[in-house]
Amino acid sequence: MKKQTTFKLDKRDSVWFHENSAHVCAAYAKEVCDVAILPIGAIEQHGAHCPTGMDTFNAVGIAEKVGAATGAMVLPCPMYGSHPHHHWGMAGTIPLTYETHIGLLVDIIRGAAVCGFNKFIIISAHGQVSSTLVATHKLGIEGLFTISSTWYDFLRDDKTVLKDYMWHADEAETSVGLYLYPEMIQMELAEAGGGKGLLDSSWKIAPGQAAGAGMLYHFEGTFGLPEKDDLDNGVIGDPTNATVEKGEELIETVVGYYNKLVTEIKTKYAVGINPLGFRNPNGYNTTADITYDKDHDSKGQLI
Ligand SMILES: [Zn+2]
Repeated sequence: MKKQTTFKLDKRDSVWFHENSAHVCAAYAKEVCDVAILPIGAIEQHGAHCPTGMDTFNAVGIAEKVGAATGAMVLPCPMYGSHPHHHWGMAGTIPLTYETHIGLLVDIIRGAAVCGFNKFIIISAHGQVSSTLVATHKLGIEGLFTISSTWYDFLRDDKTVLKDYMWHADEAETSVGLYLYPEMIQMELAEAGGGKGLLDSSWKIAPGQAAGAGMLYHFEGTFGLPEKDDLDNGVIGDPTNATVEKGEELIETVVGYYNKLVTEIKTKYAVGINPLGFRNPNGYNTTADITYDKDHDSKGQLI
C-alpha cells in the first residue's frame, strides 16, 4: 500500500471514516490513531417541535466534535436504534428489535477492526442500553475493546444548567437541538408534556440525573405504560425552557468528558496496541484458547 502520508498532508480528509478512502482509513489507524467512535441514535418521535432524527443528530454532533478534538475516527452513524418497551407502537418511532440492533453494532465494530482500529467508543444519544450493553460484552469476549456510553450519562445535571432533569423532547434535548441544528427546531410548537408512570418517580433515575440511594436506572424496569397511551403530545418535560446557551453548556461539558476519555485511552495504549491484548474470533464458543499479543504478558498486562 502506498504510504498515505505521502499524499495526505493532514493525514485524513475528514473526521468521518466514510469520507476518507479505505487507504487513508487503514493508514490512519496504523500510523496516527486507532480509536474509532461509533455514534448511534434513533428514529423516534420527539413532539411537534423536534425532528424524528433528533437522537441521531445529537450523537453525530457530539461525535464529530470529539473526533475533531482528539483525532479519533468517527464511524458512520446508523440512523435507527432500539427502544425500551414503552416506545413501541408510537407514530414516528421506528424501532429495531434488540437482536437486530445488537447484530448491527457488533458487525460495524468487527468491520472497523478489520481496517486496523483497536479501541472503540459508542456514543449513544438515546435510551438503548438493552442492546448496547449486550453488544459491548459480546465484542469484549471477542477481544474488541469497547466502551459503550450514553451522552447524558456524562451529564448528571441535577438542575444546575437545567430547571428539570433530562427527559424527552424536553428542555435538555431541545436546548441541544437549538445549539447543534437550530434550523430543525420549531420553538413556536413547543409545549410541556408528561406521562403518569406506574410507580412513584422517586424510584428511578431520570436520564442524566445523578443517582441517589434507593433508585433504579430508568431502563431497569417497565415503569410506564406505552407512550402511545400515556403521553398527550409525545413530550416528557418542558421544552419551552430550552435555550441555545443551555445547549452549548450541556454539549461542551459532555464533549470535554469524552475528550478526556479518548486522551486517556491514547496515552495508556499507543497506536497499534489492543488494550484487551487478545482477539478471540471464537466468541461465545470458547475463551479457553486465548493467548495475548506480543505486547502483553501471559496475564494480559502491557509489557
Ligand atoms: Zn431523544
